[in-house]
Amino acid sequence: MIDIRNVSKWYGPFQVLTDCSATVKKGEVVVVCGPSGSGKSTLIKTVNALEPFQKGDIVVDGTSIADSKTNLPKLRSRVGMVFQHFELFPHLTVRENLTLAQVKVLARGKEEAQVRGLKMLDRVGLMAHKDKYPGQLSGGQQQRVAIARALSMDPIVMLFDEPTSALDPEMVGEVLDVMVKLAGEGMTMMCVTHEMGFARKVSHRIIFMDEGKIVEDCSRDDFFGRPEARVPRAKEFLSKIL
Ligand code: ATP
Ligand code: MG
Repeated sequence: MIDIRNVSKWYGPFQVLTDCSATVKKGEVVVVCGPSGSGKSTLIKTVNALEPFQKGDIVVDGTSIADSKTNLPKLRSRVGMVFQHFELFPHLTVRENLTLAQVKVLARGKEEAQVRGLKMLDRVGLMAHKDKYPGQLSGGQQQRVAIARALSMDPIVMLFDEPTSALDPEMVGEVLDVMVKLAGEGMTMMCVTHEMGFARKVSHRIIFMDEGKIVEDCSRDDFFGRPEARVPRAKEFLSKIL
């Protein structure tokens, strides 16, 4: 589904990604973790072509991002992305937030977009809030709306970049519950997160990044079951967060 092939990226003279390769198969949940500044956000943003890269290629569902003939907006519309900050439109109601991109990007009719959006809102358990504005919702609820909005676009894969790290602790669980449910339904997911409970529960593989490189890519069971076998940087990281 996602094939990251020897991707390198520079910001001016600074190399932020070095020869990164990884795959995410259909239905797989891959967690990306690592220290701050290791390039996790940059890597995940290259997957939906929000960040360009200078070397290598990423193939998403058979479509090459490096290929200049690829229609990137079209590709991007099929990749759901949820960020740390919810990025809902504050002046639009929940229902309007859910329909806007469907109408603008997928050219769906308003009616169809509403039906689809509300179905997804129901899926994240927020139907009762459809006519509220984002500012009237808690952070956890806003993040669940952001997830519903991404799902409304019928994504083939969902990317998450620390979706719970800006939330108060008591709201983390409700967002993780939605992500666990999605994973259980077979959604292909690539998640930057330090929520190791989530990683342990639903991920298939863990990628550990350090200084722009993927230094570990292993099964969940190996990652948690044999911490002593991890590269030193990952061992140190694990000892701090577990
Ligand atoms: P965090 O855990 O803090 O979110 P991260 O692993 O997501 O960190 P990135 O945000 O991908 O790390 O950043 C990787 C490196 O690239 C950092 O050293 C950062 O300072 C640098 N960087 C990120 N964006 C830019 C930019 N637009 N211009 C220059 N350098 C950047
Ligand atoms: Mg980041």
